[in-house]
Amino acid sequence: MRAAKGPASLKTLSVVIPVFNEERGLDALFGKLKPVLDATGMSWDVTFVDDGSKDASCQVMRRLNASDNRIKAVFLSRNFGKEIAVAAGLSYATGDAVVIMDADLQHPPETIPLFLAKWRDGFDIVYGQRDDRASDSPFRRLFSRGFYKTFESMSGTSLPDGAGDFRLLDRKAVDAMNSFSERSRFNKGLYAWIGFSSTGVDYHVPPRFDGGTSRWRPRQLWHFALDGIVSFSTVPLRIWSYMGLLVSMGAFGYLLVFLTRTIIFGNEVPGFPSLLVSVMFFGGIQLISLGVIGEYMGRIYDEVKGRPLFIVADEVGIAAQGQAGKQAPRLPTSAA
Ligand code: UDP
Ligand code: MG
Repeated sequence: MRAAKGPASLKTLSVVIPVFNEERGLDALFGKLKPVLDATGMSWDVTFVDDGSKDASCQVMRRLNASDNRIKAVFLSRNFGKEIAVAAGLSYATGDAVVIMDADLQHPPETIPLFLAKWRDGFDIVYGQRDDRASDSPFRRLFSRGFYKTFESMSGTSLPDGAGDFRLLDRKAVDAMNSFSERSRFNKGLYAWIGFSSTGVDYHVPPRFDGGTSRWRPRQLWHFALDGIVSFSTVPLRIWSYMGLLVSMGAFGYLLVFLTRTIIFGNEVPGFPSLLVSVMFFGGIQLISLGVIGEYMGRIYDEVKGRPLFIVADEVGIAAQGQAGKQAPRLPTSAA
């Protein structure tokens, strides 16, 4: 049930921004973000999560923190990937509402007041919906479309069209996200999984501020897609029992045909090609099914090791707020 959130001025707003090699954009981002946040009339803070940047991003963040103590930064010890960086940011965010956005200005700050309006109407999750994917390469668009179709049909979890990480989460939803310890993270699926009342707000995606390219490497995107499906569906595992059944039934049918033919026409020696084809076919099927099991087993192994989700190398601006920032566990699984 939705309930209005009361006077906004008494509530606090945190913004979480994962950063990976964005030295050129951070000043421009904060320049645009600050007036928007000031205009909300809420008390706010911004938490940058440095995901192991190799450029001068860290220095820029430290400088920003020195100029405005509402800016905090958490430096992860290496590149853990965006999903984990967002998870780290969420565990530090203290606001009653938390906005997650990219550092490259592809998520326009002007959308934040629209998020807040919906939040005040009582929605716990407000996601940004991109109105088109023109800023992505055609290959990536095709890949995304294929992925979402597959994901939805296999997991039974439907994801709102064009919704990404740009969104506002109410404290309740943030706490729910912080309770997950899984490493093969697919945040978009988790946002849908935790439930709560949600709604969307349209926004337009400008090209990356620096005209640069996405920080995602194709290999990362592929693993991300696999994580998404494997962590939300066991269909790929179960499918092989049916495949096995189907193939054995086929083999049995072939046996009958072969027997009848031998009885009627006598024994024929030829048949070498069909033998080869079937051996290769079954070999292939077995390797694929082993591979699928491997995908799940690898992830089980990862989870069972119980390693922390991320390692923090340093933080600035965090200690100043005392224990408040420690409500949520920093290393959700270190106790395991
Ligand atoms: N990012 C990150 N770790 C990574 C890759 C990206 O924290 O390993 C950050 C990046 O700095 C940006 C956001 O995640 O703030 C989205 O990245 P990008 O713009 O490259 O992704 P796209 O817009 O193509 O989805
Ligand atoms: Mg981007």
